[in-house]
Amino acid sequence: MSRYWSRIVKKIKPYVPGEQPKDQKYIKLNTNENPYPPSARALEAIKNATGDTLRLYPDPAGDELRETIAGRFQLKKENVFIGNGSDELLAFSFPAFFEPAGLPVLFAEITYSFYPVYADFFGIPYRLIPVDEEFNISIDGYFQKNGGIIIANPNAPSGRGLPLATIENIVQQNKDSVVLLDEAYVDFGGQSAVRLIDRFANLLVIRTLSKSYSLAGLRLGFALGSAELIEGITRVKDSINSYTVDRLAQAGAREAIKDEAYFQETVSRIIKTRERIAAQLIKMGFHVIPSQANFIFISHSQCQGRVLFQKLREKGILVRYFDKPKIDNYLRVTIGTDEEMDSFLGEAERILASNL
Ligand code: PMP
Repeated sequence: MSRYWSRIVKKIKPYVPGEQPKDQKYIKLNTNENPYPPSARALEAIKNATGDTLRLYPDPAGDELRETIAGRFQLKKENVFIGNGSDELLAFSFPAFFEPAGLPVLFAEITYSFYPVYADFFGIPYRLIPVDEEFNISIDGYFQKNGGIIIANPNAPSGRGLPLATIENIVQQNKDSVVLLDEAYVDFGGQSAVRLIDRFANLLVIRTLSKSYSLAGLRLGFALGSAELIEGITRVKDSINSYTVDRLAQAGAREAIKDEAYFQETVSRIIKTRERIAAQLIKMGFHVIPSQANFIFISHSQCQGRVLFQKLREKGILVRYFDKPKIDNYLRVTIGTDEEMDSFLGEAERILASNL
């Protein structure tokens, strides 16, 4: 604590991302990165963008990349906003669409833990929508007066997805608020709401290249929505930083999105591995929450989450453990390659056997 800090900086509890250790080589199943390399075409485009033009600022509007994204989703450039990872889009959305003195913003009791951090930082009131023991959200909670709604679909860290009809109902019944739909994991089996954008001016869908496109290190997220929402978030960006997406990211992201075949191939490999591993974990006595994402949320009645996390770490396998009520007996395990997941299964089996 420093006396030089502002009141808000003294008060906030910043988000803590999963660790990126440097001490030894781990099988890294803790931050939902993609185990497969980025598209070779994307890497080539980044190399080609590395040269004299780096003297120059990037296009502040990111027009070419926005055109590419618009084409991919059959939208117009005016419906697309790009940013430095989807976290930045979420951060900009709070001051763009929510009111500090207004009604509370609604999000699930168990969801991406960055949402309350943004809310506290921007002084936005919020109300939590309860989830049951199996992490099903009480949908009724979204039909009360509110100052905005945020839904991760599929949700994190549970991996559970909501059907499109439910999302449509929520968007339809909340026309006075903006609904932020965080679709970071949707490519792994969720139902996207992108096609509702033409009909609902209050829906902003947020996507990222960090997971399904293997580009977490490039930092590229995008938002899709009505031109008025895109203009709102752009006004925030242009009041903070004109150049949030650098030249290399704009070039690489364009090519990654165009390389549809590679994207499809890696995504389906991850889904296949997820289903195989989930089935094997169930046989080993794990409780496995059904997942539509590139991770699984698991617990075991014979070994506490914290213990299993620690023992796996000692064996060089990193998973994510959240020391929070309702989820402190669970581990979130990112789906890696088949080989990585077999190592994880093997170690988990040995730990359980020695724990009996
Ligand atoms: N939303 C959710 C639900 C996430 O889990 C993550 C990854 N931590 C993000 C958004 C942010 O991803 P990025 O900033 O890498 O696009």
